[in-house]
Amino acid sequence: MKQDSPPLLAVPVLVPMPAERPYTYAVPVGMHVEPGSIVRVPLGPRQVAGIVWDSACETVDAKKLRPIVQAFDCPPIGKEMRRFVDWIAAYTLSPPGMVARMILRAPEAFDPEPWIEGLIRTEAEPDRMTAARARVLEMASDGLAWTRSGLAHAAGVSSTVIDGLKAQGVFETAMIPPRPVVAAPDPGFAAAALTGDQEKAAAALRESGAKGAFSVTLIDGVTGSGKTEVYFEAVAAAMDKGKQVLILLPEIALTQAFLERFQDRFGAKPAEWHSDLAPRMREKVWRQVAEGGVRVVAGARSALFLPFRDLGLIVVDEEHDPAYKQEDRVFYNARDMAVVRAHIGDFPVVLASATPSVESRVNASQSRYARVALPARFAEAALPDIKAIDMRRAPPARGGFLSPVLVGHVRETLGRGEQSLLFLNRRGYAPLTLCRVCGHRFQCPDCSAWLVEHRFRGQLVCHHCGHNEKRPEACPECGALDHLVACGPGVERIAEEVVGHFPDARTIVLSSDIMGGVKRLRLELEAIAKGEADIVIGTQLVAKGHNFPNMTLVGVVDADLGLANGDPRAAERTFQLLSQVTGRAGRTGKKSLGLLQTFQPDHPVMRAIVSGDSEAFYEREIAEREKAGLPPFGRLAGIIVSAATRAEAEAHARQLRRAAPAASDIHVLGPAEAPLALIGGRHRFRLLVQGDRRSDMQGFLRAMLAGGPKLRGSVRVQVDIDPQSFL
Ligand code: ADP
Ligand code: ZN
Repeated sequence: MKQDSPPLLAVPVLVPMPAERPYTYAVPVGMHVEPGSIVRVPLGPRQVAGIVWDSACETVDAKKLRPIVQAFDCPPIGKEMRRFVDWIAAYTLSPPGMVARMILRAPEAFDPEPWIEGLIRTEAEPDRMTAARARVLEMASDGLAWTRSGLAHAAGVSSTVIDGLKAQGVFETAMIPPRPVVAAPDPGFAAAALTGDQEKAAAALRESGAKGAFSVTLIDGVTGSGKTEVYFEAVAAAMDKGKQVLILLPEIALTQAFLERFQDRFGAKPAEWHSDLAPRMREKVWRQVAEGGVRVVAGARSALFLPFRDLGLIVVDEEHDPAYKQEDRVFYNARDMAVVRAHIGDFPVVLASATPSVESRVNASQSRYARVALPARFAEAALPDIKAIDMRRAPPARGGFLSPVLVGHVRETLGRGEQSLLFLNRRGYAPLTLCRVCGHRFQCPDCSAWLVEHRFRGQLVCHHCGHNEKRPEACPECGALDHLVACGPGVERIAEEVVGHFPDARTIVLSSDIMGGVKRLRLELEAIAKGEADIVIGTQLVAKGHNFPNMTLVGVVDADLGLANGDPRAAERTFQLLSQVTGRAGRTGKKSLGLLQTFQPDHPVMRAIVSGDSEAFYEREIAEREKAGLPPFGRLAGIIVSAATRAEAEAHARQLRRAAPAASDIHVLGPAEAPLALIGGRHRFRLLVQGDRRSDMQGFLRAMLAGGPKLRGSVRVQVDIDPQSFL
């Protein structure tokens, strides 16, 4: 080696692994990398893609380091995004590499999309003209590049005709750039004429948009009040400033209708991002977001980790929705992280909901968030009239689950040629099957959960781990034949009851496990919107966002279902879900009705829904949270310790508890066996850490984990900051 060869550079690279910090690699001579560059590096025997990180490396001897294998030809991950990764890692106590991994989910996209070889017309003329050749030349006279097969197809000739012309120099090769996944939306395409309230709300959003700085605005408006129309104005304003926009939606099933609405307003669809995208499409979207070609993305929570080049607005629609919480590897709430992302990028964020989370309402009342209200539905559409059916007074017929009152209203609705929705948040036929002879209950072998009967499929299924078995004819315990009995209802069973009452009605059952998957689901939702079903029986999937113009009756089969599960948010969740689902009724001005079957008509949640007085509900709920020191007035973290055996899990959890540092403002509850004590064969114990609003929860947990026992054997510890689930 020559004496004056340039010194090797060493850079930190964050690899998609549960490592606490970036690893250091050598940059080969002649390779250019900068913070944010995506590179391929050796890791043990493998090679992985990682991101060059910021922290300067101390004087290490780069010659001893393994070199970066390749720097991808890809726009670097921006500084804001890198700070976002660091922030989430610190907040959720996740290894930064695991957060970075969420950005690196489209590996093929790190290389530029290939240009396609095409043909373009030259000045030259063919030696002789045929009818086929004439058609080709006419097609190609637009002066644009065509692909060989595309041109042949358009001209209705075989590709050999094209080859012949090319051989004569009539065409020459021209490279065609990759196609954009979506056309550019036009902010001025078809702005809605807003109503007075809407205009006031939109003006507030435009104002914060014009400033361009960080702000949070909560659009708090009843279902059908035009929240979407209003935040579209914020989207238009951000686009006018040349910024990229991210719209988060909680459900994939909702996106189709949303995309079309967006297209009506902006003349082109936004790019979609969710787990159901085809891999090729995923990579194209990722790449085009990184390059800035895609201006607006509508996506699920994971879209927060797209490598936006110049993001200037995030909208979180249905901000209260539990689907925003990820409870896998990195536990985060996308609504909260959207606010963090906007803060880091110093741009506005808009949260929209008909039933905002208590957290957001408190933030608004304490002026951390701006709040704009839309108290009335658009046009003549009135909110449905809501009544409770006291199931103690109007019980269903033997073996049934629908009160005669509800059945009567379904009949009337049918008579008027309008649609009914019966809502029950439980998939399958029955949540429990038991043997009438010996009392045997069918339980999942790997989870502490009953097996749910799915009668259409003839199976017993575990809703936690997916375990399934054929429903037997004889009891596996006592051998008695034909004595198995289904306990309680799921949507399939309600459908059976409905068909018994209304054999001639067009009835459809919708749940997330529908055969045919998301495609079928979309078709069914469209069909319902067009009026092609009379009675819809569905889970929460049909509760959200959809617009069914002819739906005038919503019956909630078991309004009490979510109330008794030990979750501090049970009342809030039930209130939100019941408001959402009854909000499906009467979206187009017809008189509509929502009916809640309940055994607790005096419960504050039922009263709030029936009276329509959501303010009273929020006031009461907020007061109770404050009294109990629950979020947002206090902080919570869950720690879930799981292991292959119960003893291991319990011992580890107890030792961890003993490692809790002394603190006056934070205390630890548990460990206690989790309500779901076994999932997928793993035994689970939970600790709950509760602190004041200003407590250093992360510092406390870090000290506790560091002082706790080493992870041994099958033991796993998961930290869940701001937990939504307590199971
Ligand atoms: P939300 O998001 O609050 O549920 P939407 O934005 O979906 O409400 O509006 C409900 C319905 O009313 C939609 O069909 C929407 O197109 C229509 N709508 C709302 N505001 C307007 C408006 N200003 N002009 C025309 N249609 C409107
Ligand atoms: Zn299971």
